[in-house]
Amino acid sequence: RIAYVNGRYANHSDAMVHVEDRGYQLADGVYEVCEISRGFIIDMKGHLDRLDRSLRELRMDWPVERGALEFIMREVIRRNHVHNGMVYLQVTRGVAPRDHAFPTTPVRSALVVTAKRMDPKAAAKKAEKGMTVITVPENRWERVDIKTIGLLPNVLARQAAVDAGAQEAWFVDPDGTVKEGASTNAWIVTADGGLVTRPADFGILRGITRATVMKVADDLGLKVEERAFSVEEAQSAREAFVTSATSVVMPVVSIDGKPVANGHPGTVARSLREAFFAIAEKSPSC
Ligand code: PMP
Repeated sequence: RIAYVNGRYANHSDAMVHVEDRGYQLADGVYEVCEISRGFIIDMKGHLDRLDRSLRELRMDWPVERGALEFIMREVIRRNHVHNGMVYLQVTRGVAPRDHAFPTTPVRSALVVTAKRMDPKAAAKKAEKGMTVITVPENRWERVDIKTIGLLPNVLARQAAVDAGAQEAWFVDPDGTVKEGASTNAWIVTADGGLVTRPADFGILRGITRATVMKVADDLGLKVEERAFSVEEAQSAREAFVTSATSVVMPVVSIDGKPVANGHPGTVARSLREAFFAIAEKSPSC
């Protein structure tokens, strides 16, 4: 495997960052993950637009121009022969003597790009089975709309899920409403077949897959309502599912041990997943 690190392509196992990279010491950085399906980078424009926003919110510079980053992403994908899988990119504020405040002398932000192959058949199999979810109290900062590499609450939430034999954890506000998963956005299907997902205000990450699924739903004639929903409403919903670049549309079959409907993936999630690729492959690539 080949990775890109600050201007060069290196063997994955030799690809290293400096010990004083601010991402390493302070989680002072942002990232993106794009899905690659049948050679297409899905929603590349959406992901790079969100990267631009994350960088601006943190007063960080682009490490290279946007066109150059697109080239590097395609090159890493090409060198790793990824036809189906994902590409990861990370931008940190750069290398500087450790200090919480920004470096006083300008440093170039640091860029890492990796890609890996994933088996679409294995993903389809997972989707046929669906996933189980637990809930955890929301304990993250208020700016989770910025896609930072500071993911410790998400790490602990996901591990709590694994410890409980589940695959994802949903963060829940004190008022009992679902925010989002550790690395996914959360959705339910109501009795009348409409979709519900939380508004993408500052409380959740504005998922790129979430936005595309809204378009897919529109194409399928499904109604989408952006509002908060409670854990109880999700448990008694007709269906529940999550979205993300890596899981696309993944049915949720139980929440905190309570089966959703009959405990099997539903038809709405399945049709969204099937329709997703046809639409996403037509999305602007840059
Ligand atoms: N919420 C969180 C916390 C995430 O980490 C992710 C994955 N990046 C998502 C939602 C889904 O976003 P996207 O559809 O852009 O992958």
